[in-house]
Amino acid sequence: MIPYGKQLIDQTDIDAVVAVLKSDFITQGPAVAQFEEKLASFTHSKFAVAASNATACLHLACLALDVGPQDTVWTSPVSFVASANCALYCGAKVDFVDINLADGLMCIKALDKKLQWAKANNCLPKVIIPVHLAGQSCDMQAIKNLTAPYNIKIIEDASHAIGAKYQNSPVGNCQYSDICVFSFHPVKIITTGEGGIATTNNAHLANKIKQLGSHGVTRNPDLLTEDHGPWYYEQQALGFNYRLTDIQAALGISQLDKLSAFIEKRNELADYYNTRLKQLAVTPLAQHSQCYSSYHLYVIQLPSNVDHRQCFEKLRQHKIGVNLHYIPIHLQPYYKKLGFQTGDFENAEAYYKKAITLPLHPNLTRSDIDYICETLAKILSENA
Ligand SMILES: *Cc1c(COP(=O)(O)O)cnc(C)c1O
Repeated sequence: MIPYGKQLIDQTDIDAVVAVLKSDFITQGPAVAQFEEKLASFTHSKFAVAASNATACLHLACLALDVGPQDTVWTSPVSFVASANCALYCGAKVDFVDINLADGLMCIKALDKKLQWAKANNCLPKVIIPVHLAGQSCDMQAIKNLTAPYNIKIIEDASHAIGAKYQNSPVGNCQYSDICVFSFHPVKIITTGEGGIATTNNAHLANKIKQLGSHGVTRNPDLLTEDHGPWYYEQQALGFNYRLTDIQAALGISQLDKLSAFIEKRNELADYYNTRLKQLAVTPLAQHSQCYSSYHLYVIQLPSNVDHRQCFEKLRQHKIGVNLHYIPIHLQPYYKKLGFQTGDFENAEAYYKKAITLPLHPNLTRSDIDYICETLAKILSENA
């Protein structure tokens, strides 16, 4: 099976991990801070705080922005469930803003309309979480402009988008957001096994994320309220153990060196897909000129006369490891129990009926893509 995504680990990665295993600290040593510094520098942000995964980062980001039971958080229905669950962890309500069918990203018109409705009904969200689906940034400037009058905070779910650019600047610089979150799960662009990082330009938010991710405890002399002696630490909030290990951070540091090469390769392969698929009746996600995608995923949409499920099954039968990103979150049984129903977000649901993720990772070859596109062409002609 050609997998839809796969990590690329080489000997330098292995050596970096082994070096930490042989050192004094396998967790809470120097590697995490080095990884954080390197990532802040890469994304042009002031601070980066690592955690055990991106889901933990999203949870910490919501907590740092004081999301609680009185609050509502909006995100995209076309995402992994973690984008919405983070708000529920804080006891908050979740609601969604529909997507554009063409690019799968949060629809600016739908956001504008929903903000006006929410203002009239006194239920504006405290935080909005745009999702950079497949590695292409949402229109962050537009989202910032629309939400700023209401002081709505912004967390970018950039789990797919490390290495991507928006308006020629790296995603993660937080120019139009408060916090930006990346994932290092092995299917993502670079990996630490499990892992995530939150970037921000706000020292207060960075401190809060750091502290809440380590039991709510601090040893930072600037933050202590008392001083009992050199052993002293304080628990100032109810936090969690969401720490990344030095073993993982070492892998992250080493992987970060390869990030630009990975992104170039992904873009090159996506371009090749684009030319190969031009003759077929399928539509890749629309790309915007102000964006440079990290191409975490290569998603196509099928024409409506093609049986989606049958096409998907046939591709799998031909050993092509296609996938579907995503089942709309509001259609998950857990979310239906919260009151969401079919019909709530029409574009998200239309997208779900047509979308297929084709394999894309740095070790994929042009001949793999030839095989995938030829197989797809055959299936489409049988299906029509
Ligand atoms: C992978 C992913 C997450 C969660 O990342 P983890 O590091 O696995 O916790 C959150 N949001 C999106 C959009 C993702 O793709």
